[in-house]
Amino acid sequence: MENSLLSREVPMSKITLYPSNWLYNAGVVGLLIVLEELGEQVEKFLIDDGSVHITITKDVDQIFDRWANLSPRSKKGTSLVYGWKDAYYANQTESSIKKRINVLIGGDTKGAKTRQSSPIFSCVFCTVKMKIKKSDATFLNQAFGNILLGSEKSFSNMYWNNSARDFVCPKCEFILMCHHIALTQLSDSSEIFINAPSFKVMYYLNKFAREAFGATSLAEARAKREILAMSVIEYATKIQTTLGVWTGMNIEVVSRREYWIDEKKHVKIEFFSLPYGVIQLLADRRIASLLSQIGEFSILNLVLNQDFSRLMELGYRLLRIGLKDTEWQESEEKFVNQNLRLDRNRKNPAKVAEQIFDLLALIEEKQKRRSTYEYASFA
Ligand SMILES: [Zn+2]
Repeated sequence: MENSLLSREVPMSKITLYPSNWLYNAGVVGLLIVLEELGEQVEKFLIDDGSVHITITKDVDQIFDRWANLSPRSKKGTSLVYGWKDAYYANQTESSIKKRINVLIGGDTKGAKTRQSSPIFSCVFCTVKMKIKKSDATFLNQAFGNILLGSEKSFSNMYWNNSARDFVCPKCEFILMCHHIALTQLSDSSEIFINAPSFKVMYYLNKFAREAFGATSLAEARAKREILAMSVIEYATKIQTTLGVWTGMNIEVVSRREYWIDEKKHVKIEFFSLPYGVIQLLADRRIASLLSQIGEFSILNLVLNQDFSRLMELGYRLLRIGLKDTEWQESEEKFVNQNLRLDRNRKNPAKVAEQIFDLLALIEEKQKRRSTYEYASFA
């Protein structure tokens, strides 16, 4: 019997990728999920400078099988993402997808012809420039997600770039076809991706969002900005490296929702973000862990609204009620129940009040430090 394990050639390729626009970023995070499911330690691929250094030791078939496995299927068991004309990635076959994987992991370069007179195209995602015959060049179209991009006609409405003639280089093609894996389906049936300027930040924020708010979780439906806030809080409390450097840049939730008008499917893409000052607060480990200990959305929302005077009022009222040695009046009980949803907090509003005052002190300290710093940097 031949030793197939030893004789088999194990490919090994190294790829470095940098954040680009949200569709591409979702593709990279989706690819990381595929590799993680194949047993790769993808957390080691995530670099603090925001890039990702991927080492692929799996072959085309392994990557394809896992990709197909992680993708949705119809009730009959057929893939919803490839294999037929109206699939999510329109008109794609197993072999066309495997060719793309092969190119990504360093196999052949697709045999694209170049001539002296060939035009130079620049990839809209990774910006690589290529001299390539126009008929051999790939442009962004329904093959990369018909629901997301729509037809070329409606495409300009669906995507930030105004041209349907966006060149996609061969290495980016499969990456884009992983974007659906990074989307988290919420219980309100919309899908979200948290976009940020660092793959490390994106990888964890989306992981936390998926674990806490994915459709299979028991969590109640939440506003998008609350989901973003909770994910940032999780990051700040769980991940050792600082989130601080990235918070000055845009961290946003991209949301995709389908709706039907006259039996025609439409897709709405929306963006949600939090003000700079709020992200700064949530990214502070002490503030984040206090908010997570309190665990009340009413209090989180006052912080998100930066309504600190109402937060102070809430603290004082809870303290007054909590310290009463007579029985609570109906209105007081109602106030407590309206503002606090956790049993442990309802039983002990004075403790919550104390935590609110600690929170306000931390926020004030943080804001004072920030304005001192900003003053100093302008001096
Ligand atoms: Zn590219």
